[in-house]
Amino acid sequence: MSILKNEKKICAISAIGGLLILSFLIIHFLWMLLSNPLFYLSFLFGVLLLFIILIMLAWKAFGAVGGITFCILSCFIALSVSIGSRCQSFNLMALLYVIATINIYILFKKEKDITQMNQVNFEELEESFNSLFVESQKHYLQTEALNKKYYRYLNLKGVVELLSASLSLPEVVRVIVKKTLELVGKSDYCLFYLTDEEKQKLVLAAIEAQAGLISKIKSKNGDIFDDWVLKRRQPLMINDCKKDYRFGTKIVNKKDRDFKSLISSPLIVAEKVIGVLRLDNSHTNVYLQDDLRLLNIIANLAAVSIENAFLFQRTVELAITDGLTGLHVHRYFMERLTEELHRAARTKSSLSLLMCDIDHFKQYNDKYGHIAGDIVLKGISRILIECLQAGDFVARYGGEEFAIFLPKQDKQTAFEVAEKIRKAVKEREFILRRQKSRVSISIGVATFSEDGVIAEALIKEADLALYKAKQEGRDKVCSASI
Ligand code: GH3
Ligand code: MG
Ligand code: MG
Repeated sequence: MSILKNEKKICAISAIGGLLILSFLIIHFLWMLLSNPLFYLSFLFGVLLLFIILIMLAWKAFGAVGGITFCILSCFIALSVSIGSRCQSFNLMALLYVIATINIYILFKKEKDITQMNQVNFEELEESFNSLFVESQKHYLQTEALNKKYYRYLNLKGVVELLSASLSLPEVVRVIVKKTLELVGKSDYCLFYLTDEEKQKLVLAAIEAQAGLISKIKSKNGDIFDDWVLKRRQPLMINDCKKDYRFGTKIVNKKDRDFKSLISSPLIVAEKVIGVLRLDNSHTNVYLQDDLRLLNIIANLAAVSIENAFLFQRTVELAITDGLTGLHVHRYFMERLTEELHRAARTKSSLSLLMCDIDHFKQYNDKYGHIAGDIVLKGISRILIECLQAGDFVARYGGEEFAIFLPKQDKQTAFEVAEKIRKAVKEREFILRRQKSRVSISIGVATFSEDGVIAEALIKEADLALYKAKQEGRDKVCSASI
């Protein structure tokens, strides 16, 4: 404030002083030069103004040194003229130059101060703008990341619903790989291995690849990274598989596909690793800890679903499997037979049914005991399986009765299969407590559509043929219409 006040004072004194001197000069010259005083005054003011402008320009161009130098020069010229012309008023002109120079100094100093102040303010503004920009960028990225996280976890809910909706193992496995690739993203492949408990090794259960990539791989038992997860029971993240110190220089089998980064998580149920879920990418440094965290959550959800699917599969198997022989039960046989008969009707193909009954089995039980009888039942079940082909279906129909259907087989072929079974049973020796024993079997054959078109009719015909075989002395195969 005081500087500004002083500046004002100097300016005012200079202005008033300058005006007084100028007035004196005007009066002086008017009185002195009566011949042409107007021309003389114009010349005087012209020169005065010109020098002041020159000093200002010099100050602007060369700074204070230039301005002062020009002022001294102007004063020197004015004084020289004063001495030369013996006119003392030129001395006052020199004084005016000095006053003008001081004013110019104050003016430029003020301008410089304002410029500096503006510069400082501008720099401060620029700095705060930059920090605001950085902050806003940070907030934008944080919001982006939060949004991404939000949608990831929102989609996770959908995965849970999908997984809990299915109890079929192939369906669960398919959902796991598809949704993991979608949810975590960033990956070329998602691989899911199930653990073979006996061999303690991994078996590829499903693979999902990004569009445009081949979804078939040759190595079906995982690599060193999958083994690491299986054995350590820990999640794994690799940024560059060639540089990871944990795996040293071990050769990674990458003949199927190229990968440099991966994340992998074990599926643990009751402290057992039941599988490994893995994502990989052909670039380095692709995954973040957050991706691994999400993969872990999916792996935990998947573990529960896989376990449920296993339990359901086991329950279904138990419900349709006979406990003693391991063959299918009567109810399931009837369901499958009905299905196959529909198919045969649709495709206009044959289907043959074999009803088998062990001969004099009551006597066998009486002679060797029930346990021996059970061993025979198991043995005959094995013989039946051995004599049949893929697609044929065998069940324990009753106590010591077995039912078989042979899709697409006519009566002649079915008769030959029945004969093969009969001979195999007859030739088989059962040894119990060093005692050798043999049994025989009788079989009745009926064929769709000549002997019946529905399951009940076909079974009735096969039963009649079996009865006939028994009547004709047992250890025999009889056909319904023969
Ligand atoms: P057939 O030649 O006329 O068939 O004479 P069979 O004595 O075999 O008579 P049937 O077919 O009626 O046989 C029924 C016998 O099968 C009764 C029972 O002793 C035996 N049996 C049924 N179920 C079982 C089983 O689960 N275990 C054992 N050990 N024997 C069984
Ligand atoms: Mg019987
Ligand atoms: Mg019998």
